[in-house]
Amino acid sequence: MKGGLTRESMKRKGSPVLPDMRGYFGEFGGRFVSETLMSALLELEKSFRAAWREKAFRDEFRETLADYSGRPTPLYFAESLTRETGGAEIWLKREDLNHTGAHKITNAIGQALLARRMGKSRLIAETGAGQHGVATATVAARLGFECQIYMGSEDVRRQALNVFRMKLLGSSVCPVDTGGKTLKDAISEALRDWSRTVRTTHYLLGTAFGPHPFPLIVRSFQSVIGQEVRRQILAKKGRLPDMLVACVGGGSNAMGLFHPFIGDESVNMFGVEAGGRSITPGEHAARFAGGSIGVLQGTRTFVLQNPDGQIENTHSVSAGLDYSAVGPELAYYRETGRMTFDWVGDDEALEAFQRLSRTEGIIPALESSHAIAYGVRLARAMTPDQIVVINLSGRGDKDVMEVSRILESKGEVGS
Ligand SMILES: *Cc1c(COP(=O)(O)O)cnc(C)c1O
Repeated sequence: MKGGLTRESMKRKGSPVLPDMRGYFGEFGGRFVSETLMSALLELEKSFRAAWREKAFRDEFRETLADYSGRPTPLYFAESLTRETGGAEIWLKREDLNHTGAHKITNAIGQALLARRMGKSRLIAETGAGQHGVATATVAARLGFECQIYMGSEDVRRQALNVFRMKLLGSSVCPVDTGGKTLKDAISEALRDWSRTVRTTHYLLGTAFGPHPFPLIVRSFQSVIGQEVRRQILAKKGRLPDMLVACVGGGSNAMGLFHPFIGDESVNMFGVEAGGRSITPGEHAARFAGGSIGVLQGTRTFVLQNPDGQIENTHSVSAGLDYSAVGPELAYYRETGRMTFDWVGDDEALEAFQRLSRTEGIIPALESSHAIAYGVRLARAMTPDQIVVINLSGRGDKDVMEVSRILESKGEVGS
């Protein structure tokens, strides 16, 4: 966000007026919360809007991203993958090269700086597999916050290494024993904590989800991804890409890449959800394929639920995409037709995980592997003068053990 938005730049950028005053993107979004949380959210919105207008705040955000996280991340021409695929040029936005290994640190840095500006001394966050918990614990250490991470007890058991990382970074990890003992329960517990402690505490939500203004805040910080891609592809190719592809959990890496291109009609956008084992209840996390409109954790959006509104279980080989609702802004742009959504299943994602490792020497996160698989599918049907940019949201070191276990059980890799 350089300077103010002029009428011309508004036109070029499409519709930056969203969300509306009540936090709605069309019929999606809003804030469905208790009265205590409502005042916390109003304070947060006011503080964010003031901070985002302030050059000093944006400068500190940008400098921290540069010196602490290593931005700008490269935009890399995947020449071997392109050759093997046959079709459009495939470019990778290297979010995997960020500090802590994924795009999540950008949002954590932005919100932590905001919390400090608001005079808060304590951060809380939810985490599923632990990636967002580690990012939050990292910035808490860097900026001197007390920090508590809520994590379902089932996830605590499955993700022992990330639990140790968070503790090493000086945070405490609170296992949540309610419900299914996973991410959804951790979010509920973090919201409960926040409603008791809002005077001292900022809730650092990890994706473009939840009650307004969280989807707006997270998308604003993550938009640095798309802003860099625009600059980088214009410098290298002299034109904009034809296709943007990103995987979709809550929607932060997708909105971060897509948002700066909303007004560019020639740029197509594809969000890729987790198809899991199959599109049947409990076997996947493709909200747009198997979900319907409902309210979950403060926002109105597409939710995987049964006809009585009971939340369905989800499954994906990648923990970061394994959630039963999706960010409201993506639901809005799907409805207007600006963005297209599809899914990739476990097996195809595992295949892409190995393909990128073999062709480019880059081991992608399993989440990102869904985007790689889909981007390759698109590129194959396109011509060599066209350009596909895939968001490589994170690195795969965290997934290597799990992939090894799966491939061995299928007899595909000798031990
Ligand atoms: C958490 C995560 C995601 C999914 O989250 P979004 O908010 O949808 O971006 C994707 N990729 C990686 C590497 C992640 O860690």
